[in-house]
This record gives sequence, C-alpha cells and structure tokens, in this order.
Amino acid sequence: MAATEARIAPASRSIEPVARVAGLTKRYPPAVTALDDVSFTVQPGEFVAVLGPSGAGKTTLFRCLTGLTRPDRGTVAVVGRDIWQSPRELRSARRQLALIFQQFNLIRRLSALENVLVGRLAHVPTWRVILRCFTRSDRQLALGCLDTVGLVERAGTRADELSGGQQQRVAIARALAQNAKIILADEPVASLDPESSATVLASLRSAVSTGVTVVASLHQVHLARAYADRIVALRDGRIVADAAASRLDARTIEQIYERNGERSES
Ligand code: ADP
Repeated sequence: MAATEARIAPASRSIEPVARVAGLTKRYPPAVTALDDVSFTVQPGEFVAVLGPSGAGKTTLFRCLTGLTRPDRGTVAVVGRDIWQSPRELRSARRQLALIFQQFNLIRRLSALENVLVGRLAHVPTWRVILRCFTRSDRQLALGCLDTVGLVERAGTRADELSGGQQQRVAIARALAQNAKIILADEPVASLDPESSATVLASLRSAVSTGVTVVASLHQVHLARAYADRIVALRDGRIVADAAASRLDARTIEQIYERNGERSES
C-alpha cells in the first residue's frame, strides 16, 4: 500500500475530567449565599489552585466536593461518580480521593512511614492492619511515596517530632500510598511559615508529576502562581477568574482581594 494511502485516523482524545462541578449553589439560612452557580472541570494531571479571600466560599466548595456538605443545587462528579446521587456513588468516589486539611491529621505517636502505610489500609487485609504486618512491597511503596515528598530519610521519625511542613508532606505521601486519583487540599499551608508552605506546595507539585490531580485552596497569590497550573478565583461565592496560572493577570487577582478590604500576601 502506498504511503499516501495509509491513512491513520486521528486518535479521538476524549479525556474524562477527574472532577466536574456544574451549577453548584449553597445557601446558609437566612441570607448567606456561600456558592452561587459555580461550574468548572478539572482534567487529569492538573494542579488547580482555588484562590479567594476569607468568606469567598472555598471551604464550602471543598465540603461539597468531598460529600461533607450537600449543595442546594448543582452536581458534583468526582472520578466519574455523581457523588450526590447516592451514598454508593459517594463511597466509590471516596475510595479514589484523598483529603488534606490545614491540620495534618497524622497519628502522632506513629512514625512517618507508619502514617504513610495507613494510606494502604483500604488495600490490605484487616489482620495485617491489626498486627501492623505490612508486606515488603507495601513498605517499599510507602518509602517511594516519602521519597516523592523528599522525606525518605525521616521515615523512622515519629510524626510529632516532625515540623508542621514535614507533617503535611507525610500527609501528601499517605495520599499517594492510598493510590488516590485526586488530592483535595483545603488550605494545606494556612498554618505554615512561608518556607514550609513552599516545600509543601513543591511536594504537591511532585505528586502531580506522578500522575495525581490536585485541587488546593490557597490564600497566597504568589504560591498559586508559582506551583499551580490553573487558578480558579472565587469571590462572594462566584467564580471571578479561571485561567492558566501563567496567564492570569496578577492585578486581576489583587483586585479580588483588595475590594474586600483585604490585601493578598504576594
Ligand atoms: P472561605 O473558605 O473562602 O473562607 P467559607 O466557605 O468558609 O469561605 O464561607 C463562605 C460563606 O459562608 C461565609 O460568608 C461564611 O460565613 C458562610 N458560612 C460557611 N459555613 C457556614 C455555616 N455552617 N453556617 C452559616 N454560614 C456559613
């Protein structure tokens, strides 16, 4: 067959979003509209920063995304599951997502490695958990996850002997060990100093390089611009900007904060 006749159909690349939020609305009686018709999608392997001043609706958005707060209207699909359709859909989605909070939620008396192994709980038989008898391959996987966040040399250190930033990075490693497809991080650096904040965001960036998708709410514009691929900015429960981090006009974001009488930390 002549080369010119060899026609190869272009691959149809219909990539399923990891998260899709459509028309999300949440009101708190009597008069607060925390989310007002919020819609956006997150593609696999993206690092999306949700920016906005206090009261913009970031936490409410994360709670609706993770099944903690039921929206009044709209849909939330995470890893292809319409999480508000039924408890079963929510359970399925939860198996594939990991949550990271401002407080690190580690087991203080366990080592970094053991905390990461906790991420394997859903994947190992109960008796192994009770006896803390993880397989060699689970331990290797957990060490690999600690390596991704730059903490493999602290594997044996108790969680309560690690700094706040290090603890948050262990939480990220635990999410990786869980084989989460998406990490949802609500204000992951809110209680950290600038240097630790940068290392935590660098660890989230490393997680993305392993194929995980990250959605993280942040206060700091400069961190969002430095580490995220895309910025979704909320103000008064509405999306006021949604653009590639490298292309978003810094002044637009500054104005989001300044009009609220609050200056961004840039
Ligand atoms: P952010 O995380 O950006 O600071 P929140 O989602 O916490 O924003 O809050 C958005 C708005 O909803 C704020 O006006 C807040 O006071 C209000 N709000 C949040 N949670 C509740 C609640 N449980 N009851 C009443 N109002 C709430």
